Amino acid sequence: MTAVPSGFQTGFPVRPDLVVEAAGADDVRDAVARAASGGLRVAVHATGHGLAGPVEGGVLIDTRRMDSVRIDPVRRTAAIGAGTTWGQVVEAAAPHGLAPLNGSAPGVGAVSYTLGGGLGILGREFGYAADHVRSLDVVTGDGVLRHVTPKDEPELFWGLRGGGHRLGVVTGLETGLVPVERLYGGSLAFDGDGEAGAEVLRRYPEWTRTLPDALTSSVAALVYPDVPQVPEPMRGRYVISVRVAYTGSAAEGERLVAPLRAIGPVLADSLREMPYTDSPSIHNDPPFPHAYYGEGLMLSGLDPQRAVRVLELTGREAPMMTVVQLNHLGGALATGPAAGNAVPYRGAGFLLRLLSPLNGTDVAAVRALYEEAAEVLAPLAVGRSLNFSFGGGDRTDGFHDLRTRERLAGLVSRYDPASLFGGAYGSGGISPDGR
Ligand SMILES: Cc1cc2nc3c(=O)[nH]c(=O)nc-3n(C[C@H](O)[C@H](O)[C@H](O)COP(=O)(O)OP(=O)(O)OC[C@H]3O[C@@H](n4cnc5c(N)ncnc54)[C@H](O)[C@@H]3O)c2cc1C
Repeated sequence: MTAVPSGFQTGFPVRPDLVVEAAGADDVRDAVARAASGGLRVAVHATGHGLAGPVEGGVLIDTRRMDSVRIDPVRRTAAIGAGTTWGQVVEAAAPHGLAPLNGSAPGVGAVSYTLGGGLGILGREFGYAADHVRSLDVVTGDGVLRHVTPKDEPELFWGLRGGGHRLGVVTGLETGLVPVERLYGGSLAFDGDGEAGAEVLRRYPEWTRTLPDALTSSVAALVYPDVPQVPEPMRGRYVISVRVAYTGSAAEGERLVAPLRAIGPVLADSLREMPYTDSPSIHNDPPFPHAYYGEGLMLSGLDPQRAVRVLELTGREAPMMTVVQLNHLGGALATGPAAGNAVPYRGAGFLLRLLSPLNGTDVAAVRALYEEAAEVLAPLAVGRSLNFSFGGGDRTDGFHDLRTRERLAGLVSRYDPASLFGGAYGSGGISPDGR
């Protein structure tokens, strides 16, 4: 076994028996065939943002060289290779006045993000990234390269959009783009140690009820480390910020955020008109590789008292640094395409995410804290978020409701009978009836 760099997530060792640096679909097909004949498991890496845990043995297919992007401005589509990042797609689409359904960080791999659903910064207006996929090319566990469209492989087409990463290695996909060139967006940061911080959480659920679908927002809460690398006024402070992306006019955006501004003095205010290519500045996710553990809970609604209790558990008094993020869902995220796909929990109103850096921190201690937070939220929790689960290893319960899981299991037994890609998602879960 050889140790290889794990990419963005540095928390887990990656020691496969064999690494294949794929340059195209044929390399992927050969690698899968080789794994199948040797009875080896297959792992896939693009950027390493979503590494679920250690990789020990097996064949690792590295797709970073497959980083092509081709825009068709007439059909408003992007053809994306398996190793392409969202930043590359955003930059390629912008000259045509178009944008993809990308997420907060430009370095994340577009294909894996989309297979897991893909909750983007314009989600409430346009839905999940998976809802916009037109076709995919995938090497399944039987070593066959398939072109998957609604007509040719309808069941596989359903499952690959939101079903996750266990149906094969996707070598590329074609996805729809939306006509968005600019935004009103940014963030409003409040002092979490003062009254304003908790007040933001108390008022946020009510505020979201007043919003048009063209405004997608989230709240983030974290204690910034007291180190020179963190700029003032955030350094050492507990900060609660609301992040906004709105495709309407700046004047209307200002009117919509006025009730938030009225909560109290802001530490920082970056809300402004911006070209879509500047949208990574809204969330300012750290761009450097590091070790982290994370969980996401899909919630039917939000009870401000429970949200404030989660902040008490994860704020200044928490045993380790924990970033809490709360995404407002609904709008087009609740509907999806007419024929459906495997994206679960359309009825969820919010997604609560917890993320902790693992610099010498014991994973068991992080898990214990997250379980405490999950208990507080239990009456509202309908499932777990596949894309926002970091370091959970083979734990897959709750990623899909029972009906979706059964249908995905049928696809796995048909297309990956030897479980090269990890087998079907586990049973159990928070909401087996798929509330
Ligand atoms: C900083 C940060 C910001 C994020 N922001 C968002 C966001 O806004 N919205 C959102 O929905 N998600 C977000 N995510 C989650 C992200 O979408 C997932 O972690 C995704 O799986 C990352 O894909 P990757 O290719 O970058 O990572 P990788 O670690 O390379 O891939 C993750 C996993 O996907 C599978 N995989 C990769 N490529 C393929 C392939 N070609 N075919 C089949 N399976 C494959 C493998 O199992 C692999 O282990 C974020 C993650 C981070 C760390």
